[in-house]
Amino acid sequence: MASASSKIDTYQNFIGNQWVSSSDGSTFADEDPSLRGSTLALFPSSTVQDIAKAIDVADAAFKSWKRTAVEERQRHATRFLDLLEGATDALASIVARENGKTVREARAEIHSALSEGRHHVAQVSRFYGQSLPAGTQGCIGWEQFHPLGVVAIISPWNFPMNVMCRKALPALLTGNTIVFKPATFTPWSGVTMAKLFESAGFPEGVFNCVAGLGSTIGNALVDDPRVKAISFTGSTYVGKKIHERAAKNLTRTQLELGGKNALIIMPDADLTAAVNAAITAGFACAGQWCTSTSRVLVHRDVHREVCDRLAARCEQMRVGDPEDEKTDMGPVAGTDQFTSISKAIETGLSEGARMLTGGPGKGDLERGYFIRPTVFDNVVPDHTIFREEIFGPVLAVIPAKDFDDALRIANGTEFGLTGAVYSKNPQKIARAAEEFHVDNLYLNRKCTGAMVGAHPFGGFNMSGTASQAGRQDYLLMFLQGQATA
Ligand code: NAD
Repeated sequence: MASASSKIDTYQNFIGNQWVSSSDGSTFADEDPSLRGSTLALFPSSTVQDIAKAIDVADAAFKSWKRTAVEERQRHATRFLDLLEGATDALASIVARENGKTVREARAEIHSALSEGRHHVAQVSRFYGQSLPAGTQGCIGWEQFHPLGVVAIISPWNFPMNVMCRKALPALLTGNTIVFKPATFTPWSGVTMAKLFESAGFPEGVFNCVAGLGSTIGNALVDDPRVKAISFTGSTYVGKKIHERAAKNLTRTQLELGGKNALIIMPDADLTAAVNAAITAGFACAGQWCTSTSRVLVHRDVHREVCDRLAARCEQMRVGDPEDEKTDMGPVAGTDQFTSISKAIETGLSEGARMLTGGPGKGDLERGYFIRPTVFDNVVPDHTIFREEIFGPVLAVIPAKDFDDALRIANGTEFGLTGAVYSKNPQKIARAAEEFHVDNLYLNRKCTGAMVGAHPFGGFNMSGTASQAGRQDYLLMFLQGQATA
């Protein structure tokens, strides 16, 4: 898998159960976000020829994998999950080093991949089909589900192990084969997952991993008519581009995109719990979580108190080495992230919002891409930091006149991913369940990720298409229905 060249390892693609370099031998460096300029390892900067080769072998492998008994596919998936579970600590350390999230957060990511994966292994038998009255006497009909073929998985760097598992296991369990493109910031996590698929004994060509730039190999993957479905998680900008390109071949897409998630705090709420929720949902994984809270809408009667408490909590947070168990927040994922979050902070200041605490790390923190937990007050809906996803550790606090005002402001973005409401009033809670336009709503609970087993996840509007009927179920997404009489 890796060969040592001087002190830095060079990793390869996994195509047709072989570890191979890119066709032109080029590589790119995976930078350590905790230490600017230092390289963790080198990865293939793959070409369109590499993608074509991976699709060739995945297409060839589909012919026999689709006929493999479901029980056999479940056995392979279970072996993979057992290996993942056994290696949790070592894998968490890779995620922490490469992505910058803390090792505790990385372990939680792997635990969630395990629980979702085991859920999918158990659920795949729901799709054996059923018999039906065919409408004519003496005639029985039946419905059955067929796999689609080659599935492209394009994943982001923020949950490099969990997001790919959430897509790959359902696709494989339903009889599809895979070409997986890990994110450019996290190829190490991607290649490590490919190694686990190899060790789990999946047949040749069933799972393939090709690293490289989205703009080069991502397009080649999306444009190939042999790719029958694209499961993408990433930014709204790239998701829209993929959607447009995929339309040329009418390729099925599952798009899980950005968010600008709001947490509403009413004066009757348990304020300690509400502030805890804003801190944990706002700053977990340094705010680089699609479901993170990024806007805090506070009733004006408790606005001052909530701002003071948020700022005080942020100042107590330990920012530093992600591999240290005591660290609360590691660096952001890399140089591009650092630049775009720093720019968003500057824009917030120049447009008149007030920074209560935070900003880019100073002193010792300048060694890596560290941003301190940041809270802005005096934010209004015209501000860019109110509207646009920052994808970093930045909370925007907005005062609201009353509950109606808070709901209106919360719904006032182009996104619709997650939301949370803190109030002890049952009428307000019931109204939020009806009128808060998000697909995952948390009532007196902090925003977290997907609920295992719940169909809706992936957002309304510019947050994606994954909550739409037919795409909401990770297993059904990769199946084609057929009725026969
Ligand atoms: P990104 O869109 O920049 O990249 C995502 C993936 O797409 C990467 O693998 C990238 O290499 C690839 N890519 C880039 N250009 C491409 C192209 N032209 N064709 C095909 N692939 C291409 O996103 P990111 O920065 O990796 O991740 C952060 C974003 O992901 C945030 O917006 C976040 O909200 C979103 N996200 C959403 C969810 C969800 O479930 N809704 C979950 C996690 C992250």
